[in-house]
Amino acid sequence: MAVDSLPATARKITANIGAHYVDKARILPWRSPPGSNLPDPYHVWLSEIMLQQTTVGAVKSYFEKFTRRWPTVQDLARADEADVMAAWAGLGYYARARNLHKCAVDVTEKMNGIFPRKESELLGLPGVGAYTAAAIAAIAFGERAVVVDANIERLVARLFAIDTPLPKGKTEIRAAMDAITPKQGAGDFAQACMDMGATICTSKNPKCDICPVQKQCAAHALGTMEYFPVKPAKRAKPVRRARFFWIEQQDRILLATRPPKGMLGGMRALPDDGWAAGNDGHATPPMAGEWRVHDNIVQHSFTHFSLEVDLAVYQDEKIVTNSDDNIWWALDDIAEAGLPTLYAKAVKWKLKEEI
Ligand code: SF4
Repeated sequence: MAVDSLPATARKITANIGAHYVDKARILPWRSPPGSNLPDPYHVWLSEIMLQQTTVGAVKSYFEKFTRRWPTVQDLARADEADVMAAWAGLGYYARARNLHKCAVDVTEKMNGIFPRKESELLGLPGVGAYTAAAIAAIAFGERAVVVDANIERLVARLFAIDTPLPKGKTEIRAAMDAITPKQGAGDFAQACMDMGATICTSKNPKCDICPVQKQCAAHALGTMEYFPVKPAKRAKPVRRARFFWIEQQDRILLATRPPKGMLGGMRALPDDGWAAGNDGHATPPMAGEWRVHDNIVQHSFTHFSLEVDLAVYQDEKIVTNSDDNIWWALDDIAEAGLPTLYAKAVKWKLKEEI
């Protein structure tokens, strides 16, 4: 890595983190080893979209499943959106899956299947924000881009003892990351910093005794490592109530397709009351029958609110439904339905209850 243009401390940080990465880089299915050929941009893009708000451990099996089933961006573009959504089930933040498919179609149809290499061009793609554009430009194309994810934010805030609370502090953190990002090998350097944040400079109990930049770390010198980055005061999350409807006949349950826009849009799900703010979980069932209600069977946390779910159950030998959006699904095959985690939890609860 060319670090000559950086001031002394920053140069040392860049060099030490780079050298540490050569020895200790995590082996991940979407990566190339340090210093080797650049990885496939399709793999970098796919992994970065999956990694938004999601851990490496959770992403690995999904990445392998997607690349086995759709080996190229053109294959993914040709897939049915419903199949992509079902394959994404369990990974959460489902708008990502819709944008993933849309982006694959755009890259295939408008760009001949070739991802753009510049950060500014990548930013125009569906589902690609500032962080993801910088990460793809640096990792897949070797462009000098400044990459700041949550792990890097923590590492850099500590290295430079940046005490401006987030989100305001992000500007200073980015400027500090800019100062230590080398001209050559920005992709390896970003991944080295991600690894440092994930494995050494962890949120709790950072492993400063094995840290390659301990001597340069301002937070370590102050003895206040966990104080950084300074978080804004937390507000309690509002709690919403929902009611799901379990409608069962002859070992099959009725599934609905959620509206295309909004949370979990376009996904298969149990029919429900829409769980909007202000709902109290006492919605009227979609049909007359002998309903049994189980209170608060599932709790689920979203970014901006928590949800408590009641399940209303109606089982009969013959049930008539008149909506085209509904489908009867065999309980034996329910794992194949691609239900989002929230609904899968409710199904799991119900099946357990019957044992
Ligand atoms: Fe993080 Fe500790 Fe290393 Fe500083 S010395 S960067 S706090 S692990």
